[in-house]
Amino acid sequence: MIRIIRPRLPTHLETSLLILTQEMAGTPVPERGEHAERMWERKTVRRDVYRPVREALEEMAPGVDCCMYCGNHLADTVDHFVPKSRCALRTFYWPNLLLACSTCNTRFKGNKHRGDGLVGSLLIDPTREDPFEHLDLGLASGVYRPVEGSSKGQWTIEVCGLNEGKRPRVRAEAWLNLAEDLQGWAQARTVGDIKGMRRKIYRMHTQPFADVCYAALHKAVSEKAPQVFVDEDPAVLDLLRDDEFRAAFQI
Ligand SMILES: [Zn+2]
Repeated sequence: MIRIIRPRLPTHLETSLLILTQEMAGTPVPERGEHAERMWERKTVRRDVYRPVREALEEMAPGVDCCMYCGNHLADTVDHFVPKSRCALRTFYWPNLLLACSTCNTRFKGNKHRGDGLVGSLLIDPTREDPFEHLDLGLASGVYRPVEGSSKGQWTIEVCGLNEGKRPRVRAEAWLNLAEDLQGWAQARTVGDIKGMRRKIYRMHTQPFADVCYAALHKAVSEKAPQVFVDEDPAVLDLLRDDEFRAAFQI
């Protein structure tokens, strides 16, 4: 999971969302849940609201449309951070909308929610807070663990299935690819191959599980870096700390 900055929407889209929220507010409370589901599927809403909102979320997401929960690429659903069934009034509320893969959105998270609304949720919202305060990713294992004592970290791992199935294995592979690309980037720099350097940065940006790259960059400048990278080629840690590389990666 990666910290994501949420920009403002274009005014016309903000207005469309507000009008839909007002319609929801005018619906009797007991009927709101079902009405939210119907509105969400309404043809004009899909065309004029859902699609542009999804495009705005894709712009926000790191890499190639990376899921804002698990970090895998090509996410293609708009998720309600607080599910529609829990708070229908948040169905068309921009800060409640995230880009998610269908595995996170449907298979794992679904309608599960713990805590109080948006701000008091037990699930980490990467558009409001830094996930690294609650989650630690083992680079070699690809396994997420909660930062000591973080119930948010624990619940997020569980509810999004971050360590389920082949996800850890694919993250571990992403780390190996990243380490290789880093060395390739350094070799290209040595011979002044600017195009080659750009290609490597592009590959690192667009590979699945973008969270691996951000976790490595984060860990490289942490106090624990010498222990975290003890089994790696020392050149890899030096490169992750390299100002030119970090600037090229825009971290
Ligand atoms: Zn996902």
